[in-house]
Amino acid sequence: MNESKTPVFVCPEDQQAFAKVYEHAGVATELIAQHGTPPFPNTFALMFAYAAKSDKKIVVAVDEMLERGGLCQYEIDEVYNLHLRPTDDHVKRENIGREVEQQLSSVLDLVGTSVENSDQFELALKQIERGLSDTSSSNALSTAVARLMSESRRMTEHSRQLSEGLMASKKQIERLQQELEAVRNESMRDPLTSIYNRRAFDLRLAAEVDAAKKHGSSLSLVMADLDHFKRVNDNFGHRVGDEILKIFASIITNNIKGKDLVARYGGEEFAIILPATSVQQAAQLIDRIREQMFQRKLVLKGTKTPIGAITASFGVTQYQPGMAMSDLIEQADQRLYLAKSNGRNRVQADDLASNAA
Ligand code: GH3
Ligand code: MG
Ligand code: MG
Repeated sequence: MNESKTPVFVCPEDQQAFAKVYEHAGVATELIAQHGTPPFPNTFALMFAYAAKSDKKIVVAVDEMLERGGLCQYEIDEVYNLHLRPTDDHVKRENIGREVEQQLSSVLDLVGTSVENSDQFELALKQIERGLSDTSSSNALSTAVARLMSESRRMTEHSRQLSEGLMASKKQIERLQQELEAVRNESMRDPLTSIYNRRAFDLRLAAEVDAAKKHGSSLSLVMADLDHFKRVNDNFGHRVGDEILKIFASIITNNIKGKDLVARYGGEEFAIILPATSVQQAAQLIDRIREQMFQRKLVLKGTKTPIGAITASFGVTQYQPGMAMSDLIEQADQRLYLAKSNGRNRVQADDLASNAA
């Protein structure tokens, strides 16, 4: 028997939008199944956004992943965190904003009360003045002086309260400023390694490319990638893999200084911006980092079983006039690719690349 359902009115625009949602959801599910990726909500959200083409950066990132031949969970999480994760920052910033509003209104209250008090004080002074001109008896004089003193004591007390209130607000506002700064800083960091994240990298590289364009100063960019890292995870587990990522990040951090910046660019890929540095200087510095990583004696916690040498490959390139930021990244990537294909655990820089060509 056909049970009739109460019809729900859906306008044609909604119907079209719903059909699109089903279509995108279908593509997302298909991609997840096709690549055998764990069907976690993050994966679905990312694949849905990819299917909907809602953000060009997501489309590019997923296309890159697909080109590399798969949908690795780490990379999915990375792209999800970068483009889709509703960040705590927003909530934190909103809370701080609300507190700032409260502080502002309490400062306004204080100022309002203080204006009222000084109006009352002025009125009292006028009354005393009027009283004095009406009579010149010594009695009236001493009453006037007594009143003047009590009004002035009251006013002093109000000024003290006002300045204490303002001091307290100043302290609160300074605390809020520091919290805001901390949130801003947090949103620019990679949670695993504590170095800068891709967002910070993009912002800084854009600024450095602009500066190099304007002042003709040299600027080098390095792309680094740990070698055979999948094997490391397979042999020792992801926890060990994570520890190695932290160690690599700290070796790079310890070797750079000043305006240099290292960021986690992707899963096991790092990018280093070296302003005011020629490609030769950059290659020398990077080779030291490569050597330190290679020489690092890594052992498993507890059993002290040696992990063996972990190496990384590096592509080093220098900004040339007329280049866009994307050209610079692409050129560093090409050098990195050469370093990998030439045997890994090596630094491939511009001049070496052109020699090899
Ligand atoms: P290649 O030398 O060509 O770079 O080989 P590879 O194995 O390093 O490269 P591939 O791109 O095949 O694999 C990268 C691996 O890095 C896969 C992924 O499991 C791992 N990885 C990415 N991010 C993380 C992470 O945050 N933690 C851990 N433990 N592993 C990660
Ligand atoms: Mg690698
Ligand atoms: Mg890689």
